[in-house]
Amino acid sequence: MGRRFFLDVMLGRLSTYLRMCGYDAAYALDRDVEADDAILELAGSEDRTVVTRDVQLAERADDAILIESLDVRDQLRELRNVGVELSLSEPARCSDCNGELVRDDGPTPDHAPDGKAVWRCTDCGKRFWKGSHWESVETTLSKL
Ligand SMILES: [Zn+2]
Repeated sequence: MGRRFFLDVMLGRLSTYLRMCGYDAAYALDRDVEADDAILELAGSEDRTVVTRDVQLAERADDAILIESLDVRDQLRELRNVGVELSLSEPARCSDCNGELVRDDGPTPDHAPDGKAVWRCTDCGKRFWKGSHWESVETTLSKL
């Protein structure tokens, strides 16, 4: 996935979807930036597309996607309509912190089904597998 994103404070849920689709999607509150200037500087230096509901911020950014909807499904549709491909492949990004995931060959976590492939976040250590949450996201994306 080539395109990198920076999501404004109001778009936390959308950031988790983008991460599950494999995108490097930084979120303002995870990075402790809220002011427009700080967002623009960080997005610029990290070559990220700013995703925001703030018209002024979108206009000031070199590269931005302006989101109008409040509902996350509509927000996903807006992204798809401007050419952002949304589909699940292998887990690649931590939905909590945007860290990179690697395959975890250790013992299966307590609440993961036996025999499921497990991934671990290299930043926060959280482990992931394709369980019911994965399936519900897959369903959401298929109905956009
Ligand atoms: Zn993480």
